Amino acid sequence: MELIDGKSVSEELKKNIQQEVSNWIASGGKKPHLCAILVGDDGASHTYVAAKIKDCEAIGFTSSLFRFDSQVTEEKLLSTIIEINQNPDIDGLIVQLPLPGHISVDRVTQTIAPEKDVDGFHPQNVGRLSIGLPTYVSATPFGIIKLMEYYGIETAGKHCVVLGRSNIVGTPASILMSRNAYPGNATVTICHSKTKDLEKYTLQADIIIAAIGIPEFLKAHMVKPGTVVIDVGITRIEDSSKKAGFRLVGDVDFAAVAPLCSYITPVPGGVGPMTRIGLLTNTLKSARKEIYTTN
Ligand code: NAP
Repeated sequence: MELIDGKSVSEELKKNIQQEVSNWIASGGKKPHLCAILVGDDGASHTYVAAKIKDCEAIGFTSSLFRFDSQVTEEKLLSTIIEINQNPDIDGLIVQLPLPGHISVDRVTQTIAPEKDVDGFHPQNVGRLSIGLPTYVSATPFGIIKLMEYYGIETAGKHCVVLGRSNIVGTPASILMSRNAYPGNATVTICHSKTKDLEKYTLQADIIIAAIGIPEFLKAHMVKPGTVVIDVGITRIEDSSKKAGFRLVGDVDFAAVAPLCSYITPVPGGVGPMTRIGLLTNTLKSARKEIYTTN
């Protein structure tokens, strides 16, 4: 069994992007600029945005942050997004989720210009993903694919079972695994909460991507020997022995499943750290106009 080390891979990839950024700027390119919008006081959202801005500074991007209190109107938020869309200095725009209930996430997502949608959530970018056009792949499926690529995991002709069909993980991961590319060319089965006899599918899988959000859902009796297991799930479990009062647990019963696997991602330290790389990659692509060549 080989443990997939997302933390060290993400650090290496971050250094590579830093080098690409400095080459790009040295050749006369504009410094990539990522803009974030943060609404309200959610502690986790603040932490995520702070980490993204720190990443930008570390690799040589410009970053900017628009902060609004949780009472901000949808109209004000949408007009700010439109202004950012029109600002030629800004290459990428992200709106940190969740948003307060009176603001429509769909309207926000669809107001961001597709060519600046470095989170890859705009329907145009999701559509491009599904028909195999160059696009901004969203952070988590990007991280999954990059880990497989880094470890040279064989995917062509393999049976990949994806647990979960959310718009941000399961569905895009299944599209990427079935596309005609590497990693990809797998035969993909998507399981969800209505799937009957789920272990019938997981037992046939060569690769399992677990993204359902139920701690330790995937047990040893559901996995055949030699399977590649990518655990996307992250759930906080109360744990008084930890300083923070909780620990992070994935969707896989790691202790029991790991000995059966050819490769497995730990939680934490697997897919999680890789997700920040996707945003940086997409912002650099936007600055270089690699996806939308005429914007
Ligand atoms: P989500 O939107 O809640 O989707 C969960 C999916 O799991 C749904 O498709 C649901 O089916 C399916 N599901 C629920 N119970 C099931 C069951 N008993 N059997 C089979 N399928 C079941 O969650 P998400 O946003 O995709 O996130 C999934 C997990 O990944 C969470 O733990 C989340 O915290 C984590 N996550 C981690 C990262 C990272 O950076 N590592 C990033 C994003 C998410 P239905 O569609 O039928 O409801």
